[in-house]
Amino acid sequence: MANSYAFELNVLKCQGLYRSMSRIEGSQGARVVLDGKEVLLLCSNNYLGLVDHPALKEAAIKAVEKYGVGTGASRLVSGTMALHEQLEEQIATFKGTERAMLFNSGYAANTGVIPALAQKGDILFSDKLNHASIVDGCLLSRARMVRYPHNDMAFLRRCLENSRGEGRRIIIADGVFSMDGDLAKLAELVSLKKEFGALLMVDDAHGTGVLGLTGRGTAEYFGLSAEIDITMGTLGKALGGFGAFIASTNEIVDYLVNRARSFIFSTSLPPAVLAAASAAIEIVDSREGAELRQRLAENSLYLRTALSSAGFDTLGSDTQIVPVFVGEAHRTMEFSRALLEEGIFVQGIRPPTVPVGSSRLRCTLMATHRLADLQQVVAAICRTRDRLGILPETTGAGQESGPRNEAL
Ligand SMILES: *Cc1c(COP(=O)(O)O)cnc(C)c1O
Repeated sequence: MANSYAFELNVLKCQGLYRSMSRIEGSQGARVVLDGKEVLLLCSNNYLGLVDHPALKEAAIKAVEKYGVGTGASRLVSGTMALHEQLEEQIATFKGTERAMLFNSGYAANTGVIPALAQKGDILFSDKLNHASIVDGCLLSRARMVRYPHNDMAFLRRCLENSRGEGRRIIIADGVFSMDGDLAKLAELVSLKKEFGALLMVDDAHGTGVLGLTGRGTAEYFGLSAEIDITMGTLGKALGGFGAFIASTNEIVDYLVNRARSFIFSTSLPPAVLAAASAAIEIVDSREGAELRQRLAENSLYLRTALSSAGFDTLGSDTQIVPVFVGEAHRTMEFSRALLEEGIFVQGIRPPTVPVGSSRLRCTLMATHRLADLQQVVAAICRTRDRLGILPETTGAGQESGPRNEAL
C-alpha cells in the first residue's frame, strides 16, 4: 500500500526503536502513578520540583482570573500583553543582558533563531551532540552547517581557520548536553569565538535555574556570563512551566523580532504560563532556590558516584543528568522495562536521539528526591544489570573528558 506506514513501523519495532507514551496520573513529583502503579520518577526535567510549587500555581490561577486563558494573537499583531513585557524585562535582568524575548518553546526558539541569524553564505558550527532542535534550526537555515565532534576544540579551531573570509560565523553548543549531562567547554568556545570574530550561541535548556551560584546557568558557572552573544533558556525544565527565551543584545533581539519566523507566526504564550514563569524566576533567585539547587547537587553527586563505583559508565556527566551507558537499543529498553518492574521509571534513550550503539538509560535527578529514593535506585539498577546479564559495552567516553568539572 503506497500510502501505508505499517512497514516503517515494523522496521522500527524490529530495530528496538519503536516509541510509545506512558501515562502519568497526578502531578509530577518524585513519586508518580504510572499506568496505575506508583513508581519513582527518574526521568523528568522538573529539576527543582517547581511544577507544582504553590507560588507558581497561585500566580497562574490569578493570571487566568485577571486575563483569561489565551492571548488571541501572535506578539506582533495583538498578542503582546504587559505580562510578556514584564517577564522579558525580568529575564533580561536575571541574565544580565540588554534584552530578552520569549519564544513558545525551546524547539520554537532554536528553529526560529538559527535560520534568522544565519543566511546563505554564513556558516554554523554545531557540536555533534547538540539537541535535535538545533540541528533542525541549522537545517532550516540556508547557511552551511559544520558539525564538529563533541567538545573537540582542536577540530573546531581547524574548521574556523579553514573558513576565513566567508560570511558570518556562528558557534552553537548546548551548555549542558541533554543526553550526556556533561558541559560545553565554554572558556575555549569563548576564546575561539573572540579569536575568529564569530558569534557564540549557547542552548542552556538544562543549565537555566540550575547551574551557577545563583542559577543563572552554565555561563555563570564558568564565570563567563558577559561573554555569550546569544543564550537560549527554557521555562519548561527547571523553571517548571512552559516556554523559552532568548537573552541577548538590543540589536539581536530587535532583529529576531523582525525575522524569527517561529516568533512572528505563532500565537503568544498565555497569561498563566507567563505568570508562573515569573514566579519561578523569583524562587530561583531566592534563598529557597539556593537550597533547592544545593539538594539537587547533592542528589546528583550521590547518584553519579554510586553508579560509577558500581562499574557503570556515566559518560562524563557533571550534572543532574546522569546517563547509564548500555550500548544496544533492545538491551537498553529491556533494562528500562525491568527497572519499571522494580518501581523505577527511567527512560531508555535510543537513536536517533543519540548515535547508533550508544543507547543508554538517562537518569535525571530532582531536588525532591530523598537519599532513600536514590539508594533504592542504585540497588535496583545493579540488581537488574546482574539479573539481565547486561555487560555495559564501555566506550571510554567517560574517561576521555579530562579533569571533571563537577558542576553539580
Ligand atoms: C528540551 C530542550 C530543548 C527544547 O525545549 P522545549 O522548551 O522543551 O521545546 C532545546 N534544547 C535542549 C538542549 C533541550 O534539552
